[in-house]
Amino acid sequence: MADFYDILGVARDASASDIKKAYRKLARTLHPDVAGPDKAEEFKAVNEAYDVLSDEEKRRLYDMGGEEALSGAGFAPGGGFGSFEDIFSAFFGPMGGPSRGPAPRGRRGQDALVSLDLTLEDVVFGAEKELTPTLMVECPVCEGSCAKEGTGPTTCGQCQGTGMVQRVTNSILGQMVTTAPCPACQGHGTVILSPCHECSGQGRVRAVQSMKVKVPAGVEEGMRIRMPGKGDAGIEGGAPGDLFAEVHIEPHPVFSRAGDDLVCELRIPMTSAALGTTMTIETLDGTREIEIPAGTPSGDVITLSGLGVGRLHREGRGDLRVGMTVQTPTKLDDAQRDLLHALARLRGEENPPASLTAHRESIFDKIRGRFAR
Ligand SMILES: [Zn+2]
Ligand SMILES: [Zn+2]
Repeated sequence: MADFYDILGVARDASASDIKKAYRKLARTLHPDVAGPDKAEEFKAVNEAYDVLSDEEKRRLYDMGGEEALSGAGFAPGGGFGSFEDIFSAFFGPMGGPSRGPAPRGRRGQDALVSLDLTLEDVVFGAEKELTPTLMVECPVCEGSCAKEGTGPTTCGQCQGTGMVQRVTNSILGQMVTTAPCPACQGHGTVILSPCHECSGQGRVRAVQSMKVKVPAGVEEGMRIRMPGKGDAGIEGGAPGDLFAEVHIEPHPVFSRAGDDLVCELRIPMTSAALGTTMTIETLDGTREIEIPAGTPSGDVITLSGLGVGRLHREGRGDLRVGMTVQTPTKLDDAQRDLLHALARLRGEENPPASLTAHRESIFDKIRGRFAR
């Protein structure tokens, strides 16, 4: 059996108003008319927990000996526990959907969309980012009840709380009786006689919010990260909408993305390409040494495995692929030119024959062309 404090998500020393607040939040989103029958058990548990913790005597007994102490004192579930519909009604007015009399107050808040600018590093490693969206939030004065402090919804006089009115019309077929939502209370069965001044009875106000969003590694441009229940607060105490953060990735000056891999280019002097060397490069994970084998041609790719982008919702990372570009020396002085002439002579390349072949894309070009943006 789950702990009542855990069910409401409050500390054991929570004040009565904290408990009330926690209950309101949960009940509003779990109500079967909002969340559907799947959440009915959860809704019932929340109501039972609130029934006990909101009652000083029951809470005292529960703190001493849990549910056993409660049932020992005659507060058994199903017996001593108040009907959860009663508890709920005390907060939100009578329950019920279209088929069951009065319509509950409250409409779900809208989903909201914010732009989330990320660096390539954020995408490679994952990140936690600050968001400051302007959203509709629960009115701090009436806490979403829409009513002036100290007041609440009162039973509608026109429909006596049923939310429905009957109309009798005479037609050639005889008398017709139709039922329609009560115009005085919009079918809610209750009316708010003195609306809250702060929110004009809407139960919510516009405010800049500050929150954190966890960005998983491997997100892609245009993806939307969903934050359930973080959108606009509901109207008249309805459930909140969702917030979506749309990902925009700033281009990196060195690395570009190719799926889960990162791609960059390394320019190497002709002499290094011919003789081979070791070079130190700056990756997103810090410096790494790469071995350039003797005789490396332009277009060769050296792969540093595991230094790419973190895979979205999976283990591991892609690779870093470094494409080689061999640089032909320019601005030769006389001594250098003489040396190159000597080399050409030694290699028999002073008057090389032209040998045409078909153009071949390098591996590096292929990777770039296929994935990079
Ligand atoms: Zn208000
Ligand atoms: Zn009415």
